[in-house]
Amino acid sequence: MAEPYDTLLQVQEFDTTMDQLRHRIEAMPERAALAEVRTRIAATVKAMAAVGAQIDELAGRQSALEEQIASSAKRRHDIERRMQSGEVSAARDLQAMDHEVAQLAERQRTLEDEEIVLLEEQEPIDATLADHRVAADSLDAERIRLEAAVVENEEELRAAIAVAEAARAECATGLPEELAERYERLRAHLGGVGAARLVGDHCDGCHLTLSSVEVERLNQLPVDTFATCPQCERILVH
Ligand SMILES: [Zn+2]
Repeated sequence: MAEPYDTLLQVQEFDTTMDQLRHRIEAMPERAALAEVRTRIAATVKAMAAVGAQIDELAGRQSALEEQIASSAKRRHDIERRMQSGEVSAARDLQAMDHEVAQLAERQRTLEDEEIVLLEEQEPIDATLADHRVAADSLDAERIRLEAAVVENEEELRAAIAVAEAARAECATGLPEELAERYERLRAHLGGVGAARLVGDHCDGCHLTLSSVEVERLNQLPVDTFATCPQCERILVH
């Protein structure tokens, strides 16, 4: 091997390192975990809304019952007040009123029993909502932790990229312009690898084995002679 191909392979190494670092920014596990946590938060919020709607519905039924209880009680008190006022004296009327008072009292008891049933129905729903709240709080704490981890990891990776970038730029100054351009073009459409070494009888870029005739020909070329892989067309450093 000889220059400028040693340098070109160094540049390739820096470029590969930077590509890997960029990939790690996108593929860091915390980012996937964060997406998962956000999905679970959305599901919890939805579940809480559904439970909230159930609670509202029960509260509506409860207040309707309370109105009925109140109006029943008021009607009973009105009748009792009239009975006690002495304004009604006919025994038959008093008896009818007495009967209605008894009926209203019975109705009030029934409504109150219904209200107790409603309150009992509401207890597990309240408990479910409380469970959802605990889950939401814990998911939110996890979200905050993961967001911070993503930012921190990304900063570290970007700093490492910057270091590699500077080293790469310094290294690349030693490359002839034409070779550098050719390398960039190849790298752009060959998955980031524009230059590879001939290792034994195979190209380290495409990992395919070259024919023995081709290997022989490459081995006889002066080390500073430009060559490409006949299979992937990458710059082949031999
Ligand atoms: Zn190749």
